[in-house]
Amino acid sequence: MRELMAVQENAQERLDHLTDMISEEAGWDVCSIYLSRKSSSLELCATHGLKTESVHKVRLKPGEGLVGLVARNARPLTTSSASQHPAFSYKPETGEEPFDTFVGVPILRGGRLVGVLTAQAAAKREISEEEVETLQTVAMVLAEIVASGDIAEAEEMAELDVRQSKPERFQGGAFASGLAKGVAVLFEPHVGTDHLIADDMEREELRLELALTALRAAVDEMLEGGRGAFGGPTREVLQAYRMFAQDRGWLERLREAVRLGLTAEAAVERVRNENRARLMKSPDPYFRDRLHDLEDLANRLLRHLDEAYTGASIKLPDNAIIVARNLGPAEVLDFDRDKLKGIALEEGSASSHAAIVAKALGIPLVGNLEGALDRAEDGDPLILDGEFGLLHIRPTDDVVATYDERIEARSARQERYAQLRGPARTRDGREVTVQMNAGLLIEMTQLEELGADGVGLFRTEFQFMVSDTLPRLDEQATVYRSVLEAAGDKPVVFRTLDLGGDKVAPFAPSAVEPNPALGWRAIRMGLDRPGLLRYQLRALIGAAAGRSLRVMFPMIAAPWEMRAARDMLDRELRQAEKRGHELPSEVQVGMMLETPAIAWAMEQVVDIIDFVSVGANDLMQYFFAADRDNARVSDRYDVLSPPALGLFQQISQTCQKYEIPVSVCGETASRPLEAAVLIALGFQSLSMSASNIGPVKSMISQMDANKLGTWIADHMNEPVNSLRSMMLEAGEEAGLPGAAVDNVVKI
Ligand code: PEP
Ligand code: MG
Repeated sequence: MRELMAVQENAQERLDHLTDMISEEAGWDVCSIYLSRKSSSLELCATHGLKTESVHKVRLKPGEGLVGLVARNARPLTTSSASQHPAFSYKPETGEEPFDTFVGVPILRGGRLVGVLTAQAAAKREISEEEVETLQTVAMVLAEIVASGDIAEAEEMAELDVRQSKPERFQGGAFASGLAKGVAVLFEPHVGTDHLIADDMEREELRLELALTALRAAVDEMLEGGRGAFGGPTREVLQAYRMFAQDRGWLERLREAVRLGLTAEAAVERVRNENRARLMKSPDPYFRDRLHDLEDLANRLLRHLDEAYTGASIKLPDNAIIVARNLGPAEVLDFDRDKLKGIALEEGSASSHAAIVAKALGIPLVGNLEGALDRAEDGDPLILDGEFGLLHIRPTDDVVATYDERIEARSARQERYAQLRGPARTRDGREVTVQMNAGLLIEMTQLEELGADGVGLFRTEFQFMVSDTLPRLDEQATVYRSVLEAAGDKPVVFRTLDLGGDKVAPFAPSAVEPNPALGWRAIRMGLDRPGLLRYQLRALIGAAAGRSLRVMFPMIAAPWEMRAARDMLDRELRQAEKRGHELPSEVQVGMMLETPAIAWAMEQVVDIIDFVSVGANDLMQYFFAADRDNARVSDRYDVLSPPALGLFQQISQTCQKYEIPVSVCGETASRPLEAAVLIALGFQSLSMSASNIGPVKSMISQMDANKLGTWIADHMNEPVNSLRSMMLEAGEEAGLPGAAVDNVVKI
C-alpha cells in the first residue's frame, strides 16, 4: 500500500495499478473502481477483470445495481449470488456474468461518497469479514488519492465529482467585522495519507487503548463538574459523549480497523467518516444532533492521539480562513497571526470570547454556519463577509469581482477613518471621549494608531483564559505594567476578573449551574472566593506604583457588593503601604452598571465610587431577559426601543445629578447609530472595540447631539418595537448625517 501512495503515475495508471494489485494480492478475479459523477451517477473508472473497453463507458444511475445500492446506503454489501440479487443490474458491455461472488464498499471522504470499490470472484463462496475490512481500508486510501489534485484535474475524469466543486453560500451571523478572501483550512483533525497504514499493529492497538482511556477520564471529569460549567458542552451532550465512549459497537469498529493494519488515527477517521455518511442521511434531527456529538468525540479522541494538534501545529497557507465547528479564545490566538485572515464557525456567538479575540486581532469572524465543515474542503477558495455574516465557498467570478470592489471600498474607508485622529466633537460642539476596549497586550499598539483617548475597559480575564495555570502575581503585574507603559499618559481602566458565563479559565473554581449567565460569575465569584480577587488587586496596585490606577468591578447587582469590593481594594492598599511598597499616585474606583437593579440604587453607592461604566452587553441581556449568547433571542429586542432608551436616559440623568463621570462600554457603544443616540442622551464618554473607533468618530463629527436629543424626546412614546428605522428615515431632521447616514452607519 505504501508503494502505491508513492508511485508517480498519471491518474488513470494509478487507478489501474490499484485494481491490479488488489486482485493479485487478495486473489480476486475482478476489482473495479466506480467514481461519482457530477450528475450523481457512478462511472466505471478502472477495472481488473472486466472488459477494459467498458471503462469510462459504463455509468450507473443513482441507486442502480449492486454498486448503486452500496452508494445509496454508504455501507458494504456482500453476496455470493450477485446475479440473483434483487438489485442486480446486468451490463453486457462489462462481461461480468461469470463473477457471482461480489463485495462492494463505499469510498468515503469526509463523510461524502466519492465512489464504490468492488471485488468479484467466479467461484461461489462466503466472503469473510476480514476481506470486507481490507477493502474498506483500501477504499480509505483510495479516497485520498482520488481527492488529490491529479485525479480531479485529469481530462478523462473531468466530469467526476470527486471534489466538491459547486459554489455555495452560507448565511450566518457576523460576529467580528471585516472582509476576507482566502483559502479554506479545515480545523478538524485529519489524517494525512502518509499516516494511514500502521508499521506496528500492536503499538497502534496500545495507542488506541491509551487514548480511549484518557478520553473516558476527560469526559467523566467534565461531567463531575470541572470545565463544563464554563460554557463547555452541556450536561446532556456530555452524557451522550459518555454513552458513545462506552459504546461497544463504536469501540469494536475502532479496534477492528486497527487490527486490520490502520494507524489508530486512521481508524478513528474511518469510523467517523462512516458514521457521518450514514447519519447525515437521516431525516431525524435527533440523529443528526447525535452525529455532532459523535464527531466531537472522534475529534477529541484524535486530539488525545496527537496532543500536538493545535492551531500552532498547522502550517497555514497565506490568506488562510479557518473553518471549524467552534473555537475557544486560546485556540484563536494559537494560529499564525500573519497568515490567519478570517474564521468561519458552525457555532459561536457575537459576544463569545473567540469573537472578542478575533475583533482584537482585527480579523472577521462569522458564526452559525451550520454544515460549512461538510461543504468546504481544504484549499477551497473562500470569501468571508463579516459585515453581513456570509460565507461563500468556491465563489463564482461575479461574486469575487463584487467582493474585490467591496474590499477596496472598505480599505478606502479605513484610510479615511485613520485621518480622524483628533478629539471627537459633534457638529453642535459637544466633545466626546472615545476610548478603546482591550484585553490583550498586542492590542495596545492600536491606541496611538487609532487616536483613542485611552482604554475604557481592559478585560483582565483574557490573560487567565489563555493560560493553563493560574497566572502568578508577578506575571499578572508584568502584564498590567506593560499595558500602562504602552498607554503612556492615556488612562487605562482595568476591569477585575470577570469569569463565569462563557468565560472559561481552566483552573478557576466552577460549579455545574443550570443557568450560567444568571449564575455564579464575575464579582459574585470574586467576593465568595476572595483569594483570586485579592491577589489580582495586589498585582494591579504593584503595577501602578507611582502612577494613576483606575480599577472597576463587574456585575454589581447590590450596593453591598460594591462596598465589599471597595473594602477589599482599600485593605490591599493599606497592606501595600504597611509593607513599604510604592503606592499608585491616585486611585479611582469604578462600578460597572450591568444589572438593572443597581440603576435604582445609585444613591447608595455614589459616595464610594469615582466613576460608572455601563456594561451594555450584560445590562441589555438582563433588561430583556434574553441570553446574549443565544442566537435565537440575542437580536430579538432592540436597544433603540423606547424602554431601553428610557433606562439609558435614567442612568445618564442619575449620574449627572450625583456628578459621577459615566461612560458606556460594550457593543452598544461600538455601533455608530447607537453611539449617536447615547451621546444625545447625555453620555460624553464611550469605549468600544478598536475596529469601531473610526466609524463611530466619523458619525460623531457628522451628528447634531441637541437635535437628536430633541427628536428622541419627541418620539419616546411611539408605539413601536424600535425607533431605529424612523430615526434612519428622519436622517438630517433627527440630527443625523442625512442621506449619507447609511454609509456612516456601516462599519
Ligand atoms: C458588557 O457586559 O457590556 C461588558 C463590557 O462586559 P463583557 O462584554 O466583557 O461582559
Ligand atoms: Mg459584562
